[in-house]
Amino acid sequence: MSDASCDIGLIGLAVMGQNLVLNMNDHGFKVAVFNRTVSKVDDFLADEAKGTQIVGAHSIEELVRLLKRPRRVMLMVKAGDTVDQMIDHVLPHLEAGDIIIDGGNSLFTDSNRRTKALAEKGILFIGTGVSGGEEGARFGPSIMPGGNPAAWPHVKDIFQAIAAKVDDGTPCCDWVGEDGAGHYVKMVHNGIEYGDIQLICEAYDLLKRGLGFTPDELHDIFAEWNKGELDSFLIEITAEIFAKKDEDGKPLIDKILDTAGQKGTGKWTAISALDLGQPVTLIGEAVFARCLSALKDERIEASKVLTGPSGVAAPSDRDAFIEDVRRALYCSKIISYAQGYMLLREAGKENHWNLNMGGIALMWRGGCIIRSRFLGKIKEAYDKNHALDNLLLDNFFFGVLNQYQASWRKALVHAIELGIPTPAFTTALAFYDGYRTERLPANLLQAQRDFFGAHTYERIDQPRGKFFHTNWTGRG
Ligand code: NAP
Repeated sequence: MSDASCDIGLIGLAVMGQNLVLNMNDHGFKVAVFNRTVSKVDDFLADEAKGTQIVGAHSIEELVRLLKRPRRVMLMVKAGDTVDQMIDHVLPHLEAGDIIIDGGNSLFTDSNRRTKALAEKGILFIGTGVSGGEEGARFGPSIMPGGNPAAWPHVKDIFQAIAAKVDDGTPCCDWVGEDGAGHYVKMVHNGIEYGDIQLICEAYDLLKRGLGFTPDELHDIFAEWNKGELDSFLIEITAEIFAKKDEDGKPLIDKILDTAGQKGTGKWTAISALDLGQPVTLIGEAVFARCLSALKDERIEASKVLTGPSGVAAPSDRDAFIEDVRRALYCSKIISYAQGYMLLREAGKENHWNLNMGGIALMWRGGCIIRSRFLGKIKEAYDKNHALDNLLLDNFFFGVLNQYQASWRKALVHAIELGIPTPAFTTALAFYDGYRTERLPANLLQAQRDFFGAHTYERIDQPRGKFFHTNWTGRG
């Protein structure tokens, strides 16, 4: 079959690519597919794609020949150099006005570069975040496209058709912004995902080690939490995980090695936060917590010589403690999203992206790993005030924090007394206390810098921007 009748071509038939193709097919789009290991094309057509209108190609040239004009070629291959190599392979077969879409987890700076380089060749590039794992890709992911705005009208129909929908039918996909904006927003999504996961792990540890709850009891607690304001995909799957039994009937969770992996998007978020001078402390701690977990052998050695507190009684009121932990989790989550949005705001300014903050919350509302009821509250906050400086200044969010902070502190006092590490909970509270403090001790910091390095300081009794230096030692 070689007529140009396909709506889109997709390269990369691993788990994400296959599921996206099947999703597009379900929505009536005719998709041509190609994969470097060509046998996977035939396997896919004979198996998962059997009975669909999906068309296989055995070369990139053949794939491109199958596409309607302007041609839309989507890459779902390993992020990094592979994307550049694939673009190089596809380019000779395209013509001006054709569109290349990279749907992998690419670094946003790569998408900045690719958008510009391809525009010079007349090719329209889209770098898009696709979230929701294989299930999302198959039945409705959150899709965050950025790149060359001229490409958006050509892919909008397909992307919005296959994306997850919120209750009123609005798709979890809209144009994010120029160049690498889509991949940037996906990166921050993944960073927030690291934070959410770490917070849930800390709540688990506090309940398990603090009160000795069994996985069955933890299942009940998390299932209950999922009915309220913590309602989210991650809390839901956590409850399911606690209920899962191994072949011997014992809880599987207790048999899983406690060393975390990571693929880098959390680290990228933290690096970007440092580059932009934004205190995104919770995601940073979440990345470091994974690093610490990976030092398993060292931790085993250390556990033999480093002692923790002893003789500390567990919290006496179990129900009150569960509620304190729940509130600590909710407050810390608010801080994490506020920090993530601070980063988006700064990246938008720095890169001249006109990011629609409420729209981003809506895109994350369904389809993706961090989907939750809570994101609806963020959307509402930006609907109320498009120019909101910080989520913590929205009355819904500061209302929750003001109401719950005593519980949050109590949960952390117990954590510290019991010697249970809660880096994400703790950094969230430190950020909260720092952000709401009118006068921090940075006056001393500035004095020290001026003392040893003549870095100068500003004075509270003089206009901002006027700098002073003191001869601190009196020596000439
Ligand atoms: P993957 O394991 O990241 O990549 C495998 C695909 O890349 C295969 O089609 C493979 O072809 C191709 N590939 C690898 N090296 C290549 C090369 N040098 N030249 C040409 N093709 C090459 O697949 P994935 O998990 O489906 O993810 C695809 C993209 O989506 C990635 O960027 C990933 O980060 C992102 N993503 C993944 C998830 C997820 O849950 N898995 C979620 C969101 C986003 P062969 O079959 O020939 O090896």
